[in-house]
Amino acid sequence: MDRPIHVVGGGIAGLVAAITAAEAGAPVVVHEASGRAGGRALGGTERAGVNLGPHVVFTDGALVRWLRSHHIDVGLRGPVVRGVRVLDDSGSHLPLVESARLAATLPPQRAPVDDSFRAWAEQAFGPTRAALMCRLAGLFTFHDDPGALSARFVWDRFRRTFLGADRVRWVAGGWSTLVDALIERALARGARIDLDDRLTPGTLPEGPTIVATKLSAAARLLERRLDWPGTRTALLDVVTAPGGNWPSIVADVRADLATCCMIERETAVEPGLLGHDRYELFQAHLGVGPGIAFDPAVARIEDALDRAVDGWRERVVWRRGHLLVDSTGAVDPPGTTWRDRPGIDQGDDRFVAGDAVAAPGLLSEVAVNSAVRATHMALEARRRQVFAPGWPSVDLSPERRLAVLAAALPGASLESVELRGGSDRGREIEPVDETGPGYLLGVRAGVVRGTAVTPSPDGSRVTTLAWVRWPEPVARPLNRLYSTLRASVFGSSAWRYALGRRRFR
Ligand SMILES: Cc1cc2nc3c(=O)[nH]c(=O)nc-3n(C[C@H](O)[C@H](O)[C@H](O)COP(=O)(O)OP(=O)(O)OC[C@H]3O[C@@H](n4cnc5c(N)ncnc54)[C@H](O)[C@@H]3O)c2cc1C
Repeated sequence: MDRPIHVVGGGIAGLVAAITAAEAGAPVVVHEASGRAGGRALGGTERAGVNLGPHVVFTDGALVRWLRSHHIDVGLRGPVVRGVRVLDDSGSHLPLVESARLAATLPPQRAPVDDSFRAWAEQAFGPTRAALMCRLAGLFTFHDDPGALSARFVWDRFRRTFLGADRVRWVAGGWSTLVDALIERALARGARIDLDDRLTPGTLPEGPTIVATKLSAAARLLERRLDWPGTRTALLDVVTAPGGNWPSIVADVRADLATCCMIERETAVEPGLLGHDRYELFQAHLGVGPGIAFDPAVARIEDALDRAVDGWRERVVWRRGHLLVDSTGAVDPPGTTWRDRPGIDQGDDRFVAGDAVAAPGLLSEVAVNSAVRATHMALEARRRQVFAPGWPSVDLSPERRLAVLAAALPGASLESVELRGGSDRGREIEPVDETGPGYLLGVRAGVVRGTAVTPSPDGSRVTTLAWVRWPEPVARPLNRLYSTLRASVFGSSAWRYALGRRRFR
C-alpha cells in the first residue's frame, strides 16, 4: 500500500478511524493484536449475543449519529420500562418514591467543575436526594464512589441517562453485530485488517499512526506517560432457565454501598437474544474500590440477585464473572474535564484515540469522537507528507468550516461573540457529538442559520452565520443585522445553557 495510515487496535475506535480514513481516500492498515477485531465491544466467544457487561447506546450520541450518517444499519431496541425495580434497605419495589424525589431534580442546573458531585448535590438538592443521586450515578460511571468525581462530569451524564432516558437503546443481537457491521464497512472501503498482529514500540510503523488501544497499552507503545483515572468494575453474567415474573432492571441502592449495583435482564429487551427464546440473560455490574477482591464483589452482586430475582440460583445454566480495571472509560475528578485528559495529538504524527482521551461524550462516544478527530489529523499529516511537504496545515475548526460555507453563500454574514466563562473558563460546553462538521445548521422561515461554538482562552466563542435570500444590495446589510441580533442573544446566560444542551453535529 502506498503510504497508508496505520491504525493500531481494531476496537470501536480503531474501526471508526479505519472507515473514516478509507472513506477519505487514504490507504489504511489496521493492526489488531487478537484473532478477532472488536476489542471490548465483543463479549467473548462462549455465548453469541452476550456483551462484556451491559451495553447501551444513546440515539443523540456520537456513536449512533456516526452510524446513521454513514448509513450503517444496526438494529436498536428501546427499554422495557415495566419491570424496573429499586432495591433499597426496605426491600425491592417500583421506583415510585425515588422517581418522585428525582422529579425535583429536573431544574436544569449547570454543575461546577471544581466541586465533587456529592458536595454540590448536597447543596443543590439536600443530603437525602444527593445520597440517592450519588449511588444512581454508579449506573453510568461504573465507579465505586461516583459522588467523589467532578460535579460537572457526573451531572452532565446524569441528565443524559435519567432525564433523556427515552434516547437509550440496546443493540439488537448484542454489540458483536455492531462490530461485524463496522468490519464489513471497513473492508468494503478497502481497509486492510491484520489480525494476530500485536505491535511493539520496535515494530510501530513510520508515517501517520493512530493508536486506538486502551490508554495503558498506548503508553507502552509510545513509551511515554499517558494515564487518567478509571474504574474497577466487577461483572457477573448469568444465563438461567425460564423463571417467574422477573424484573427487567434492578438498581440496588442499599446504604452499604456508595454506588449502585445494577442488574439488567437483557432478554427482557430482546427475548430471542440467546437463540433460545425462553432462556434468560442477566448482566450485573458493580464499581469496587481498590481494596475489594473479585470474590466478595461477586458475592455482593449475588446478594442483590437473591433479593430481587426469586429462584435464580436453581435455574442457572451458565455463568461467568470478571473484575475489569480501567475498562469502562475515563472518569474526571474534581477540577478536571475531558479537555484535561491525554491529548489526541501526541506529536511526530502519532495520534491516540479511545475512551480515555481528550474527547467529549459518554463511554464509547469518547472513543468515536476521538477516533474521528484523530483521523482528520492523520489525514492532514498524510496530505502534508504525500502531496505537499512544507504546506501549512489547514485549520478545520467548526468556526472555519462555517466561514467557508458563508463564503459560498452570496451576501451571507458571519458574526462572533465571546462568552466569558468565569472560573469555568474554556469548559462551558461539552458537545456530545464531534463527528460531524461541528456546527448546527438549520433553515427556518427561509433563513439559513448556522452556529459554531469554539473554546477560547477566556471561555468560548459563538459564531453565527445568517443568509437571507434577498437580492443584492439589500441582502448584505439585512444579513448583517440579523446575525448581529442573533449574536447578542447568544451572549445571554439563558442561551448559554440552551447551547450546552444542544448537540453540535
Ligand atoms: C462493563 C462495560 C460496560 C460498558 N457499557 C457501555 C455502554 O453501555 N455504552 C457505551 O457506549 N460503552 C460502554 N462501554 C465502553 C465500551 O465498551 C468501550 O468504550 C469501547 O468498546 C472501547 O473501544 P476502543 O476501541 O476504544 O478500545 P478497545 O475495545 O479496548 O480496543 C482496543 C483494541 O486494541 C487491541 N490492541 C491492544 N494493544 C495492541 C497492540 N499492541 N497491537 C495491536 N493491537 C492492540 C486490542 O486487542 C483491542 O482489540 C462499556 C465497557 C465495559 C467494560
